[in-house]
Amino acid sequence: MVSIYENSMLHINGRWRPSASGKTIDVINPATEEKIGQVAQANSDDLQEAIQAANDGFKKWRYVPTFDRYKLMRKVATLFKERADKVATLLTLEQGKPLYEAKIETQVAIDRIDWMAEEGRRAYGRVIPARSSHVSQLVIKEPVGPVAAFTPWNFPINQAVQKVAAAVAAGCSVILKGPEEAPASCAALVQAFVDAGLPNGVLNLVFGIPSEISDFLIPHPIIRKVTFTGSTVVGKQLAAKAGAHMKVITMELGGHAPAIIFEDGDIDIALKVLSANKFRNAGQVCIAPSRFLVHEKKYKQFVRGFTQIAQNLRVGDGMNPKTEMGPLAHERRLKAIQEFVSDAVSKGAKIETGGQRKGNKGYFFEPTVLTNVPTNARVMNEEPFGPLAPINVFNDFDSVIEEANRLSYGLAAYAYTSSVKTAAALSSAIESGMVSINHHGVALVETPFGGVKDSGFGKEGGLEGLEAYMNTKFVTQAEI
Ligand code: NAD
Repeated sequence: MVSIYENSMLHINGRWRPSASGKTIDVINPATEEKIGQVAQANSDDLQEAIQAANDGFKKWRYVPTFDRYKLMRKVATLFKERADKVATLLTLEQGKPLYEAKIETQVAIDRIDWMAEEGRRAYGRVIPARSSHVSQLVIKEPVGPVAAFTPWNFPINQAVQKVAAAVAAGCSVILKGPEEAPASCAALVQAFVDAGLPNGVLNLVFGIPSEISDFLIPHPIIRKVTFTGSTVVGKQLAAKAGAHMKVITMELGGHAPAIIFEDGDIDIALKVLSANKFRNAGQVCIAPSRFLVHEKKYKQFVRGFTQIAQNLRVGDGMNPKTEMGPLAHERRLKAIQEFVSDAVSKGAKIETGGQRKGNKGYFFEPTVLTNVPTNARVMNEEPFGPLAPINVFNDFDSVIEEANRLSYGLAAYAYTSSVKTAAALSSAIESGMVSINHHGVALVETPFGGVKDSGFGKEGGLEGLEAYMNTKFVTQAEI
């Protein structure tokens, strides 16, 4: 089969081009382990040019009326929609997720662009009544300035569009460092902005060695905001660097979502919704349910049901329409998941199903269910980011809340209960940026997305997602 996969270049100041050094990084299809293409590796000359472009781009874009920004972004959404099938194929080839999941990711991106386009028109300030009749007091929202955005490989389009759509709607320019593991679908997103007529320099795309790029961009005086999605470890390093240079930040970091099934919860719905969200994208989702805590009266039934679902999942190449779960996105994750399982088993956990690499070609891992997992097992403490479901038992409200809040993570939390009282007590007690009860309702563009504690700082989505790219300026003027 002739692959439609494309090599990815840098996009700087309105031009797609190779890196100044000519260096590239290989792109591997995780389902076959074959090299399918390459991506340009930026050096400091490229980054300097991107900085200059973002500075020039910002000077133009910030004064473009919001209505014109809106019209352009609607055009981006239309173009991306026309290209969605092709982009989804690129995404599956480079990242591994099943094609239908890749298609959903393109649809979600369109939704995000549309919504932020609209919301940009409502970046209202306000008038504050003054103490004197000769004075006016205005609160004005202004774009924060050129943004350095760092996005990961698990949702190569969506992690990028969350940042880019909000920043562009707000009037900022962006240097986006996309994922080297899965660059082509992210580049296709940028191409849609270019083709819709975004002025040169407003959106620049670079790839390379992540630490070299963040070391260069974050301290640079032209960059006014740093936004990152990725692991907590890296996020803390980047936030510290940004703090040293007093840059505005948004940090979307790791999670370890508790999923609590109370005695009165609807177990059929819980099994259906939680398993779908556990194994989506092979578990490489920051809001995936990660610690299953089931009331003792429902425990056996839940373990049985979840194990059966895991065993029946069709794991394979995402390009096969029958595939329900693809491979892990790269070799590092395969090793990490194997280590999580061996560690848990060595500490006394039981494997109900799975627990091993699947086959010896491609980064496939069996959907895995673990029970009796001790609290000191690594999988109960570190973000698993893979198809692992540790299921433990609880017997009262206080102890399950204590377990849910035990970790330094606080991104998402899930619960199933038919009691309004339990739901209210839980949503108040849980230390988490997002709580979803009796369904999976997080990560819509109109709702705020983000964590507390070590899961990060700031929000993407909702009014807050646009606000994150704006400064509030107060202007007071007296008549003379
Ligand atoms: P990693 O921690 O090295 O990388 C995570 C992301 O951060 C990648 O996109 C990478 O390019 C970027 N990154 C790493 N160092 C950077 C730096 N110095 N400057 C700028 N960007 C940098 O590891 P990984 O193997 O890619 O993923 C491991 C863990 O990362 C996962 O287990 C998961 O916990 C976390 N992760 C989280 C998300 C998320 O959506 N929150 C996405 C991807 C990975």
